[in-house]
Amino acid sequence: MSLPFIERRRTVRGRLRSGGLEAVVVTQAANRYYLSGFTGEDGILIVSGAGAALVTDGRFTTQAAEEARGVRIIRQKGPLEESVGRYLKSRGWKRIGYDPASVSIEQFGRLRRAASRHRTWHRLQGAIESLRARKDGSELAQMRKSAILAGEVLESVLELLRPGVREFEIAAEIEYQMRRRGATGPAFPSIVAFGSRSALPHARPTGRKLRKNELVVLDLGAILGHYCSDITRTLFVGRAPARIRRWYQAVVEAQQAGVSAVRAGAECGEIDAAARKVLRGHRLDRRFMHSTGHGLGLEVHEEPRVARGQRQRLSPGNVITIEPGVYVPGTGGIRIEDDVAVHLHSSEVLTRVRRDFIEL
Ligand code: ZN
Ligand code: ZN
Repeated sequence: MSLPFIERRRTVRGRLRSGGLEAVVVTQAANRYYLSGFTGEDGILIVSGAGAALVTDGRFTTQAAEEARGVRIIRQKGPLEESVGRYLKSRGWKRIGYDPASVSIEQFGRLRRAASRHRTWHRLQGAIESLRARKDGSELAQMRKSAILAGEVLESVLELLRPGVREFEIAAEIEYQMRRRGATGPAFPSIVAFGSRSALPHARPTGRKLRKNELVVLDLGAILGHYCSDITRTLFVGRAPARIRRWYQAVVEAQQAGVSAVRAGAECGEIDAAARKVLRGHRLDRRFMHSTGHGLGLEVHEEPRVARGQRQRLSPGNVITIEPGVYVPGTGGIRIEDDVAVHLHSSEVLTRVRRDFIEL
């Protein structure tokens, strides 16, 4: 189990060497887990040419020793950043990397003061995130399970969608079903939106009751074995009017175009454009106001971003969502989302739930 963490630290060490750095401080929780296996809420990992150390407080030292094999565990004294600063100073390292996106100005100040002068700090923005974006075989296997679980949960609540049920009841059932199936919890607050509320891409569940002849958007994801899934389906309770069928058809086609465009080497912006172009053909592109997708992994939103104009190219091991939508204020919204893994010569849809129009 500790093997992937050792491998990943070796990769980071190689990057440090080529960048002329002696150590890097890892402050972001998912990065810390990715490189050490430590799941506690607090702590800073230091990876250096010599090895790795995790500074954490007394609540987590036992857990850290169990989870972070091969990592030296240091119990913090006083504020975390000061303990880390003193450790860096004691090792005499001069050139240290950090990620400015995951440390506050105040924390960074404490770190620098405690490490004292004669040290240079080098910005390594997104360096570990870019490693995380390329999943290995065991990560992909875990993500496949997480995606299948999310799909099963989604299917399990369909029978509860009867007039009179409230959004928060469905959200509660979703989260219960996730945990029953072994998930640690939801990857993000589940979206359950009825009727006109479905026109809000990020609707939070309310006490709103489901009525007949309404759209329902369900957007949910689980964390299973640390890895997130993310799936959306839209259905209709009753017989849908022709224009809603038309919108649905347009979103299915756009989503399929996005999924079909996924391949190693493609620019993320091309994937976004493929989905958007279909909606333009249906004169619905102005009803689609978010990006087509995002990377998925230890976090629900991570690298790479699948948005307009993104030049970054997809690599084998990337897992992204494809989730175009059409939103009509006052009427409702339609979104379909799947998780797609990029392989060397193919792609793989990890979420396995039918996409044809469901009328309940
Ligand atoms: Zn989603
Ligand atoms: Zn998503």
